[in-house]
Amino acid sequence: MSENFDDLYEQIRKGEIEREDAVFLAANPGYLFQLADELRKEQKGDIVTYVSNRNINFTNVCVGNCKFCAFREEKERGYLLRMDAVLSKVEEAVNNDATEICIQGGLHPDLTLPDYCRIVEEIKSNFDVHIHAFSPMEIHHVARNSGMSEEEVLKELKKAGLGSVPGTAAEILDDSIREIICPRKIKTEKWVEIIKIAHRVGIPSTSTIMYGHIESLEDRIEHIFKIREIQKETGGFTEFVPLKFMRKNNELGRMVNREVSFLENATVHALSRVILHPYCVNVQASWVKLGVADVQRMLHFGVNDLGGTLMEESISRLSGSLAGEYMSPEDFERLIKDVGRTPKRRDTLYKLL
Ligand code: SF4
Repeated sequence: MSENFDDLYEQIRKGEIEREDAVFLAANPGYLFQLADELRKEQKGDIVTYVSNRNINFTNVCVGNCKFCAFREEKERGYLLRMDAVLSKVEEAVNNDATEICIQGGLHPDLTLPDYCRIVEEIKSNFDVHIHAFSPMEIHHVARNSGMSEEEVLKELKKAGLGSVPGTAAEILDDSIREIICPRKIKTEKWVEIIKIAHRVGIPSTSTIMYGHIESLEDRIEHIFKIREIQKETGGFTEFVPLKFMRKNNELGRMVNREVSFLENATVHALSRVILHPYCVNVQASWVKLGVADVQRMLHFGVNDLGGTLMEESISRLSGSLAGEYMSPEDFERLIKDVGRTPKRRDTLYKLL
């Protein structure tokens, strides 16, 4: 570990941070926040990006049992969108200037690879839009339901037109925690394996952490270091998104029974910037999880991206998010300019539009 602040700063700028440096920084938030802001400025300048997109949760039927989930339903009570309903949502989004369609759903017991490929193919043959879809957990579920490997599934989905994969289902990449909060979800090693396969076959992904439940500060730091190691190897992550745990209407929320503080939110975002430097240059804050006022404040703690317009957001809403389901480009532009930064619309892969 570095012996003084100047040495530590130099070490981090070179991408050589160690775990104990991150623990030290978390205990010195003033210094951490300043460092994160400087690194953000160095890498991204004053530009703050957002993407015009739409979420489509095509089914809530799920065989999973994650304790933080208020979205899943049994097959008898759940829904599965028909293809014409999916296409009309895409049409509405494209007419509203969306460049990305984000598709995720529950783990429906009856769906196999052809069903997933059909969603992608039908959208791609009707619209010129990027498809960002199917988490590593969903990829594993499709592979299991179809008697195939995850690599075969990813290659077929890419052939169908899949553009990138959401790095969700990561939660905390520690099996002792996963065993408690999402016992049926893929283990850490499998999540890492699927993400690396995706990157290897040419499908980039985002990366996430779900923080603010039973994990410790050290668990958060370890998780971000795991993301860093993957990124050093593959370069396939487009961004890192800290996702605050939403505690309403779910079993884990009743177990945890406390709110995540503003200091914790700021610390997680700043640590993400500092630990991932210079390998992953985009750190996103989620307006759905944090609300508009706090997401704006995160721009001072290492954040350079505010995610998407979404148009439709049901997963967080069911767990107590009050941020709404749509943030217009005008709202993004205003809140970014309000803190003296420059808003830019981007595509999914961070090309400025
Ligand atoms: S988080 Fe996803 S996998 Fe887990 S229960 Fe909910 S819908 Fe199913």
